[in-house]
Amino acid sequence: MRTVTEPSREVPVLAEADVVVCGGGPGGFPAAVAAARHGAKTILIERYGFMGGLATAGLVAPILGHTAHESDTPIVQGILKEVTERMHALGCAPSWKESLREWGIRFDAEALKVVIDEMCREAGVEVLLHTLVVDVVKEGDSIAAVMVENKSGRQAVVGKVFVDATGDADVAYRAGAPTTHGRAFDSRNQAMGSFFHLAGFGYPDTKRVKELHKLIRDRLREGRFRFYNEGFLNRNAYHTDHTSANMTRVGGDPTSVRDLTRAEMEVRREVWKLVRYLREEVRGFEDCYVQQTSFQIGPRESRQVVGPYALTGDDIRRGAKFEDAIARGSWWIDIHCPLGRTYPVHLCTAECPEGNSCPYWISQHESMLSMEELFPPKGDWYDIPYRCLLSVAVPNLLASGRCISATHEGMAGARVMGTCMAVGQAAGTAAALAVAEGVRPGDVDVSRLREVLREDGQLV
Ligand SMILES: Cc1cc2nc3c(=O)[nH]c(=O)nc-3n(C[C@H](O)[C@H](O)[C@H](O)COP(=O)(O)OP(=O)(O)OC[C@H]3O[C@@H](n4cnc5c(N)ncnc54)[C@H](O)[C@@H]3O)c2cc1C
Repeated sequence: MRTVTEPSREVPVLAEADVVVCGGGPGGFPAAVAAARHGAKTILIERYGFMGGLATAGLVAPILGHTAHESDTPIVQGILKEVTERMHALGCAPSWKESLREWGIRFDAEALKVVIDEMCREAGVEVLLHTLVVDVVKEGDSIAAVMVENKSGRQAVVGKVFVDATGDADVAYRAGAPTTHGRAFDSRNQAMGSFFHLAGFGYPDTKRVKELHKLIRDRLREGRFRFYNEGFLNRNAYHTDHTSANMTRVGGDPTSVRDLTRAEMEVRREVWKLVRYLREEVRGFEDCYVQQTSFQIGPRESRQVVGPYALTGDDIRRGAKFEDAIARGSWWIDIHCPLGRTYPVHLCTAECPEGNSCPYWISQHESMLSMEELFPPKGDWYDIPYRCLLSVAVPNLLASGRCISATHEGMAGARVMGTCMAVGQAAGTAAALAVAEGVRPGDVDVSRLREVLREDGQLV
């Protein structure tokens, strides 16, 4: 590859903190709030003009993983419960009690943005929006500062403990720490996808919804659209004046700018293909319109930190429990084929046009699990061990959200937002304890960490 040489330069220090959280998504903002509440001087760095990650920028909803599998028993509380109650007070989410009866917590992304702002402000987190983490400066094995770029130029943010909540393990990767990416055998990650809101039509009754979904399913079979399901009338978000559809999918690498660019444009094209079809050919949808597409294409999976332990698919299936548990998950091994062909990938034998040339099919088909085998036991959950948040190489780094240490199958369950928020709360609490005790995150007393999490309302 052709290269150019950047001249070295002195860079101003923008800020200094005990805990520096990079990324303000479901894995990031709870970490910052928890760290600040436990007395650490905390900075959160976020590339967009708002926090929430895919929950806001991706319009992803509902929040999954808050109850045990097929049960209304909560497995995550703490900051997730507080966020839900604050959104409920704004008329933009169900009450916590109501949410336990639902498979996911529906919410309004705009309410989430302002709730996160408030929680960060009240906890005393210094938030730097419009700021991209671009590099790290190390002292020995540890990170001394992250380099950031924003409208003011290039600056450094100095810290003691760093939380990588970028979703793509940008901090760990730039620090030269080992990271994994997708499937063990070919490094391909789950397909990307996105949500869009559709409005401008009268919402039909249940019978008509079924008919209309069948209509789109038929068009999918004919190859007219590339969606992975027909649910354009699904209401994943809280308000009911629009639908919030989770239908799109695009194979590609979310850490490749060319793949991201292609994915954004492909998804928009598909959404508009659907809208034109609905307007021209489906009664009642003559005036429908795209209220909004997501701010960014959603990566389901990309780089992940390598920690002393990696959560596995088997851990999910058997509802594994660990002595160093710091969060609970209940979502299943939910894998979208990396090539954007089948969903779930375990059904690829039946429908995949790649047939026997697919690397997944070649390497896995003899040990392919059935649908029933992809879930934790009914009424149960799996623990996320603290070791999944540590880096084997960088002692003052903690991972959070979807870049914790897990296999492709393990991350397929742990990636949902309820679990990411529980992990985030644990990462921030651990970071604050490490600073207070003057130890590395890996030397934090985990039984004390669990005790503090319990005192803060978390279920561990
Ligand atoms: C199509 C799709 C459907 C999904 N459906 C659901 C669902 O129904 N329910 C559910 O619970 N989960 C769902 N998920 C999963 C869930 O949305 C994510 O796994 C979760 O949001 C991960 O949280 P995170 O904080 O780790 O990462 P993200 O949500 O990606 O947040 C990362 C944050 O870091 C910021 N950032 C990234 N890099 C940098 C940088 N270098 N510098 C500064 N800031 C940076 C980003 O702007 C973002 O705010 C879905 C995901 C996708 C893609």
